[in-house]
Amino acid sequence: MASEPVPVMTVRYSPLEQQFADVDEVFDELKALVRSTDFTLGKVVGEFEEMFAAAVGSKYAIGVGSGTDALKIPLKALGIGPGDEVITAANTFYATAGAIAETGARIVFVDCDDTFGIDPDLIEAAITPRTKAIMPVHLAGDMANMTRIAEIAEKHGLKVVEDACQSLLAKEAGRPAGTWGIAGGFSMHPLKIINVWGDAGIIVTDDPEMDRMCRLLRNHGLRNRDEMEILGYNTRLDSVQAVVGKWIVAKVEDIVAGRIRNAARYDAGFADIPEITIPVRRAAKSADERAVYLNYVVFAERRDELLAHCRAHGIDAKVHYPIALYRQDALRHLGYEAGAFPITDRHCETMISFPADQHLLPDEIDYLIGVVRGFYAR
Ligand SMILES: *Cc1c(COP(=O)(O)O)cnc(C)c1O
Repeated sequence: MASEPVPVMTVRYSPLEQQFADVDEVFDELKALVRSTDFTLGKVVGEFEEMFAAAVGSKYAIGVGSGTDALKIPLKALGIGPGDEVITAANTFYATAGAIAETGARIVFVDCDDTFGIDPDLIEAAITPRTKAIMPVHLAGDMANMTRIAEIAEKHGLKVVEDACQSLLAKEAGRPAGTWGIAGGFSMHPLKIINVWGDAGIIVTDDPEMDRMCRLLRNHGLRNRDEMEILGYNTRLDSVQAVVGKWIVAKVEDIVAGRIRNAARYDAGFADIPEITIPVRRAAKSADERAVYLNYVVFAERRDELLAHCRAHGIDAKVHYPIALYRQDALRHLGYEAGAFPITDRHCETMISFPADQHLLPDEIDYLIGVVRGFYAR
């Protein structure tokens, strides 16, 4: 058991090469798009939006230029701006904070719990008269505790805009990520659950006024060709990316099923390694709950040494994220002291991420588990 497996393999992190190995169909549709010159909010954008809304189970979907804009635009649609506060999780990707900051509102961090979601027990203490919204983040493919967050928001009259960029098709109590709040934002950046050939984002909502406002805001606030109703942005979903989006969203159930299958194989392989702790997963307990494993994340003792060991053995493991967002230089002005979010800090020191994507092979997972086992057996 202690011996490390030979021969050495390499385990890559990104599946993009395999994902896009055979895309003749996409090229055919791109040719048709170029011939049609329907480049700006063309027919294909509407078709993709309909497919995405159907996949997530929302009434409306609005394509925008990035996942970051898929968070910023709904906040702007709610009228959130300078003087307001938006509560979010201390352990998230830069873009969550960036999207809130772009509205002019103040970012208010709350620590997470061991499920990676914002700790619902700590939210109420962060609410002030200036709080307008909560932006829970569904990290790494799991769900934040939306049942509790929705109750708290309701009690305090706050809006919820979900950062669902990492958790397409995750669900809690049968209800998908992005459909709990007034709106949810998704990214189709090359590292997310579905990926296009560059940047793209999409907002989902069931609210007709939110839908209308997001459509205005993404396109200069234009009501029609000649009338500008409000000040907006240029953050339209590119028609070229919508072609790729249509092709890939049709495969999303298989993509997610592959990730869940891979995570189960990791779980079984890591279960008896005492130095590895498999996180509590909120959304993996019943048929109504689903985690989708954007990354396969565990807590590891001697994490940095394990990371170096994996890399030396050809495994491109990663850390999401090594520096807590609240400790980044860019957010020093918020005034948070080191140690303000102890669970987030602990996660930054102990989390390690392995690939879980649908193209990963069982042999690669078994090799990786063997390398981790070998490290702790030394
Ligand atoms: C990727 C990501 C975003 C932003 O997406 P982009 O498409 O890169 O702008 C926002 N929040 C989280 C949690 C993300 O992982």
